[in-house]
Amino acid sequence: MLRQVAEGVLVHESAFCQSNAVVVQGRAGVLLIDPGVQDHEMACLANDLSDAGQTVVAGFSTHPHWDHLLWHASLGAAPRYGTAPCAATVRERLSDPGAKARIAELMPPDIAEQVPLDLLGLITGLPAATARIPWDGPRVRIIEHQGHAPGHAALLIVDRGVLVAGDMLSDVLIPMLDLNDTADPIEDYLAALRLLEGVASDVDVLVPGHGSVGGADQVHTRIDQDRAYVHALRDAQVPSDPRVGPSATFGKDWLPGVHARQLQHLARRSDRDATPG
Ligand SMILES: [Zn+2]
Repeated sequence: MLRQVAEGVLVHESAFCQSNAVVVQGRAGVLLIDPGVQDHEMACLANDLSDAGQTVVAGFSTHPHWDHLLWHASLGAAPRYGTAPCAATVRERLSDPGAKARIAELMPPDIAEQVPLDLLGLITGLPAATARIPWDGPRVRIIEHQGHAPGHAALLIVDRGVLVAGDMLSDVLIPMLDLNDTADPIEDYLAALRLLEGVASDVDVLVPGHGSVGGADQVHTRIDQDRAYVHALRDAQVPSDPRVGPSATFGKDWLPGVHARQLQHLARRSDRDATPG
């Protein structure tokens, strides 16, 4: 079911990981950002759009993780975009013939059967430093940064005051750092938060890739919460973060493991950096 969060901006939530697909109404059809996860959910979204007399005229993937790269045949054949590094990363990963099988292994078994991988990652990279999504609709600013994944983009729907944050600023997921593609994952993540902080005053509605849609008051709250978590990781402290604390309900059987792995990885990194030669 589509829910309006601002004028001409609607959200469709998937059951898997509270994933949010975002629909932006344009003049001749809609822009669809991170369409969703399970087959029946994307089909439902396509159905809702066609009932509303809308077609998809452009797609966008916020970053090169499988749950943001899916598509469903019933959504049509509109061009699908991502940033240049996002598209390059997808291309490289999918050039490995075993890639889709490995992606399927990452999913919970009950979900894996429901996720259509045939149209996964068929995106076109926008030229470096493209400032806006090329489409006939409200201005959508691309705020590209490192931190969570190569070429990750948050999108600011300027005249609607909506920030589509990709996998940043979630109320249910802790910051998940890109530990493999970058020399300084902590600083990258902090820089990304500063970048989002720079547009915070333009935001009335915050839509994270996973979790609850927030109002203007949530923008600084979530930036501060994410920054505190990243500082705790950097300083090898125990974060006092409700998302991985004893009262957490979302992902309680796997998020603490993600947190522990990030800590371990960073500890190994700092050991290595401290080793002379
Ligand atoms: Zn992600």
